[in-house]
Amino acid sequence: MLIKKAEVITTSPDRNFVTLKLTTDSGITGLGDGTLNGRELAVVAYLNEHIVPLLIDRDPQNIEDTWQFLYRSAYWRRGPVTMAAIAAVDVALWDIKAKQAGLPLYQLLGGASRTGLLAYGHASGKDNEELFDSIREHQADGFRAIRVQSGVPGLRSIYGVPAKPTTDAGDGREHHYEPAQRALRPPEEDWDTRSYLRHLPTVFEAVRNEFGPEVPLLHDGHHRMTPIQAAKLGKALEPYDLFWLEDCTPAENQEALRLVRQHTTTPLAIGEIFNTVWDYQLLIKEQLIDYVRSAITHTGGVTQLKKILEYAGQYQIRSGIHGPTDISPVGFAAGLHLGMAIHNFGIQEYMPHGAKTNATFRQSMTFTDGYLHPGDNPGLGVELDVDEAGKYPYQTAYLPYNRLADGTVHDW
Ligand SMILES: [Mg+2]
Repeated sequence: MLIKKAEVITTSPDRNFVTLKLTTDSGITGLGDGTLNGRELAVVAYLNEHIVPLLIDRDPQNIEDTWQFLYRSAYWRRGPVTMAAIAAVDVALWDIKAKQAGLPLYQLLGGASRTGLLAYGHASGKDNEELFDSIREHQADGFRAIRVQSGVPGLRSIYGVPAKPTTDAGDGREHHYEPAQRALRPPEEDWDTRSYLRHLPTVFEAVRNEFGPEVPLLHDGHHRMTPIQAAKLGKALEPYDLFWLEDCTPAENQEALRLVRQHTTTPLAIGEIFNTVWDYQLLIKEQLIDYVRSAITHTGGVTQLKKILEYAGQYQIRSGIHGPTDISPVGFAAGLHLGMAIHNFGIQEYMPHGAKTNATFRQSMTFTDGYLHPGDNPGLGVELDVDEAGKYPYQTAYLPYNRLADGTVHDW
């Protein structure tokens, strides 16, 4: 079998997506996700200029060899652009192999270790009243685990809380949070860590009082705290029994988590902006985290994330695969298949895509009573409608960035 065609398809139904479509001489096609929010066209160029020419007439069946060839032959390794491009190829090859076998991908990865994947949804509100409504809506949709993000008094806007309703999910309600905005420059937001640290424990106290001790609650700190601030927050949240505190410090510095860990038993999750196992080396070996947050799309595909999670499993660290709407239905499906097969699955992030995205990418996955399943179609279970994709050309869009009260740029 040989790869005969490799197309990079950029589409923007509800937001921008980069998809690689491979076609073999036997007519089997495979899809891979190379979406990098706010830097999509860099991956498009990397694929078109440097990878597509290497794929033509290559055997799609040798996935490990292709991964190692693309990673090592570039010489300049790692980084989100490179690893998203490699992920797009890797996932498309797994899609082809599973279709060739006539099996859903999770069967090739070892088969089902569970009947479904526990998902968490994103509840948020500018104040507790809005937040409680959002939690109730998510519970009505079937979510059993809830990420809680709240506005902070004195701040105009904040990560995780939509300023206004955004995308219609197709169910008659507008409950999406989409931080990237279609604009020529990143939008500016404001930030004050002390206000956030004072306010957030009161939110979790109110949520526990209203919704009881059973519901698993999560929170994302989005890389904004110093290690000692994160340690203080982790301690302050201990009475509210979080499932995890995510991205409490900037992700570049693995040793920061050592200090946080010394001070709190709140479980820690990190890794959505990591690209390789080397970003996790210290964190896993020293058991400084509890959950691996990488996405298939930004970590070089199924081939590498499976290895990272197997390594993490030796230390009782579990998966929390990244699943916001900037992971395309292709990348999301790949994460579901991996989550079905590994032993150390933890939880799956799930933000439903919008109606236009779901019409562009037809998916076999299901969400029932709080559990996701990738479906049993051969391959990933995702088909791209190229005509539909063609209706929505790429639009420049950027994630926001933060400034403090004195004008200093801060981590967003
Ligand atoms: Mg996050």
